[in-house]
Amino acid sequence: MSADSKSTFCTVPGCGRPHRARGYCRTHYARWRASGDARPEVPIGAVRRAQAAEPTPVVAHPVALKRRLRGLPPVSRHERLLALADLAERAGVEGWDARRFEREQAKVLGGRQ
Ligand SMILES: [Zn+2]
Repeated sequence: MSADSKSTFCTVPGCGRPHRARGYCRTHYARWRASGDARPEVPIGAVRRAQAAEPTPVVAHPVALKRRLRGLPPVSRHERLLALADLAERAGVEGWDARRFEREQAKVLGGRQ
């Protein structure tokens, strides 16, 4: 047991959760470990709520990414999903019309139609 465990509660004002390590509760300790800053001004739960409000980005599988960078057609469902998400984003940014979008979509789905 270290000197830390003498305090039974988190040292962040207003937190009141049980002490875990370094004077922090589990959540504040996790923040401190992750970033070096317990961010006492950010209420617990606010980060998770903010993350939940944002859509989860589609992350490329390394193999899928490699194939995409080489301009190879997607081979798995995952890759096609990724490519379509990519397509929709580009279409929105570049303002494609429906025909352009369908053409690009056919390229992505190519061979499976
Ligand atoms: Zn705390």
